[in-house]
Amino acid sequence: MPFKDECGVFGIFQQPEAARQTYLGLYALQHRGQEAAGICTRDGRTLILHKGLGYVADVFSESVLDRLKGDSAIGHTRYSTTGGNVASAAHPFLVQGRFGQVALCHNGNLTNTEQIRAKLIAEGQVFTSPSDSEVILALINRAKADTLEDAVVEALKQAEGAFSLLILAEDLFIAARDSRGFRPLALGKLDDSWMFSSETTAFDLVNAEYQREVMPGEMIVIDAKGLRSRYMLPKEDPRPCVFEHVYFARPDSFVFSRSVMATRREMGRCLARRHPVEADLVVPVPDSGVHAALGYAEASGIPFDFGLVRNHYVGRTFIEPKQSIRSFGVKVKLNPCRELLRGKRVVLVDDSIVRGTTSRKIVQMVRQAGAAEIHLRISSPPTTHSCFYGIDTPTRDQLIAAQKSIQEICEFVGADSLGYLTIGDLENSMQDSGGQGFCYACFTGEYSVPPTEGKG
Ligand code: AMP
Repeated sequence: MPFKDECGVFGIFQQPEAARQTYLGLYALQHRGQEAAGICTRDGRTLILHKGLGYVADVFSESVLDRLKGDSAIGHTRYSTTGGNVASAAHPFLVQGRFGQVALCHNGNLTNTEQIRAKLIAEGQVFTSPSDSEVILALINRAKADTLEDAVVEALKQAEGAFSLLILAEDLFIAARDSRGFRPLALGKLDDSWMFSSETTAFDLVNAEYQREVMPGEMIVIDAKGLRSRYMLPKEDPRPCVFEHVYFARPDSFVFSRSVMATRREMGRCLARRHPVEADLVVPVPDSGVHAALGYAEASGIPFDFGLVRNHYVGRTFIEPKQSIRSFGVKVKLNPCRELLRGKRVVLVDDSIVRGTTSRKIVQMVRQAGAAEIHLRISSPPTTHSCFYGIDTPTRDQLIAAQKSIQEICEFVGADSLGYLTIGDLENSMQDSGGQGFCYACFTGEYSVPPTEGKG
């Protein structure tokens, strides 16, 4: 089973407080991964690394940041589920090889890691972790090219699948995105220094200006001579991930050159037209359903209110009481406002249903709070297929929409009605004419890169 990475990357070139800026950048990208974080800085020609398990704020202290000297840095925040919660899998990876010290961090999943790893191991290569990032570093070191820059191109030509990656070396900084551009990567500027981030929200925090996306297939190289852009990978039709806009990215970010918040609003408006219903109140499942619910309320004219309140201080784990409380996991995160919900016909809006178990508990919670009717509206199509390019989705046997009809899902979650967007609605919301521009594989099963390994 390959590691499933949902990650955030941030990097900065030539800024006096590189480590602290990267720390802040990662702080803004915390939603992209909560299990591990790391920063590698460059002081002169020496690379210094610190990484560990936990939230960004837990992994870095004042004294650690003081130790991370230097004016360039790359950082990473990582999320993984199955068996991946081990320190050895945290990024950045720092190695010493033919090109001196080289550090790399990576968002996305390669689809041919196991194949390459097996071949390299047979040839004598050793690895310290199951990470696909280490495989890229091995390919770089074994490349025929004479320069690191060309070796990176050679390595990335062999990598299939999704990568938005940052490389820091003794005298070079590289940002690269795979030819289909599955995962985002943005270029920003603060005074004279360049920075990169998975999402633009991180630029806002450090007062940097968003310049543009790193384009699919583009490699940006920065060294003492300045910044240059190269397109060395085979050209493919771009397939940026629509699920970044549906669920994953922060609404205040620009992802793939468009506002996530504006797209979610449009999805909500579209949902109101697709599945209208007579109701008294539109209630979002916070935070993921908020902007689609606002769009639904706007297009339907039904009042919007926060009928569920989210506790923002809940981490990934919490200690349950010994005598178990029913639906404790959801209750600790969400609580209903009974005064708002009692006797009301509620349109409950969320972005997606994956396994259906959380949605079922939330519907029960709203019902117990006194809602007269619950009409569940989902601002994306049924999630029927696993992602192989960096979004953590379970295998098809656990995806409720791969196993049950919409009517059966409605019964399972206990709603009075259930409505999803169609693929066409989603394309319209993304202004994607003819469905040519984005990856919709989790909704269609049409994989532009064959999923050669892992889930099915
Ligand atoms: P469930 O009803 O158990 O399928 O959970 C649905 C909730 O999971 C929705 O609120 C989604 O926003 C959220 N969700 C969707 N995709 C993911 C993901 N890749 N990782 C974690 N949560 C997700």
